[in-house]
Amino acid sequence: MALLSIIVAPDHRLKAISQPIAVFDREARKLADDMLETMYDAPGIGLAAIQVGAARRLIVVDIARDPEPPSPYVLFNPRIVSAAAETVHFEEGCLSLPDQFAEVVRPGSIVITYQDLEGTPRRLEASGLLATCIQHEMDHLEGVLFVDHLSAVRRSIILRKLVKARRAEASA
Ligand code: ZN
Repeated sequence: MALLSIIVAPDHRLKAISQPIAVFDREARKLADDMLETMYDAPGIGLAAIQVGAARRLIVVDIARDPEPPSPYVLFNPRIVSAAAETVHFEEGCLSLPDQFAEVVRPGSIVITYQDLEGTPRRLEASGLLATCIQHEMDHLEGVLFVDHLSAVRRSIILRKLVKARRAEASA
């Protein structure tokens, strides 16, 4: 396994539309393994392949907290088949927007289909934080960040902070 570097916004690569994965080979499994390792190391509770520069429809999620045992989800080609009308709002963060958080409103529960590491079609019902996290990661596959759900003013405040932080880091 290897740690991958995470792309930080604003970056045009995060706007890419990710492509479906058709072949479930060693390379696809290695990408999933490396993404999990990168997510745990960060640490974070979700990561989409585009955040490590791979425009593929793959997300990994694990919302277990210490001392719970790890409970990773590796979801290839996830698709939402239904979403509850009832909504919830969680304060979201993103490994591509370090130290930035905002409340986002999303459906409180979803049903998705996806393929597992072997390419076998599966179905998952998720609610609460897991549903939010999966929707957040799936947004990345369409080039959408959580700040895109906020007002233009709030979005630009957050993105400006990130640009400033990057400049400060570069000059340090
Ligand atoms: Zn994210």
